[in-house]
Amino acid sequence: MNALSWNTIKQLVYERANGCCEYCQTCESNIGQAMHVDHIDPAGGDSLENLCLACANCNSFKGAVTKELDPETGDTCSLFNPRTQIWSEHFTWVDDGLRLRGLTPTARATITRLKINHPRIVLARQHWIAGGFHPPKRANEQA
Ligand SMILES: [Zn+2]
Repeated sequence: MNALSWNTIKQLVYERANGCCEYCQTCESNIGQAMHVDHIDPAGGDSLENLCLACANCNSFKGAVTKELDPETGDTCSLFNPRTQIWSEHFTWVDDGLRLRGLTPTARATITRLKINHPRIVLARQHWIAGGFHPPKRANEQA
């Protein structure tokens, strides 16, 4: 079925995402730590359509979860799927790039579950903004 080695798969996932987390957009070049390959659906296998690049924070907070409550409505929602959904339709940077705001129930649930606005990462973003490295340009539609 899939003749690619795991190393090749990881490289393809990395390149497709330009080295940045497909949930929170944290870039490997900013954090200096290896990105993870996340199985979007933990039971969905190793096909490229079920994989995305994720930072260690997003990957570890997501774990094997695929759903979370939307804090605004209390409804259970599927987490953001970088393969089938468009990031900029769900998320937007606010506070000059310090925090992500969810535009949809899916995004709000994802921000909650993955702790995307954790004080640690917000502090790091402050430094990246000061250095001109954040937010990533490709998804920053409100610059
Ligand atoms: Zn992330």
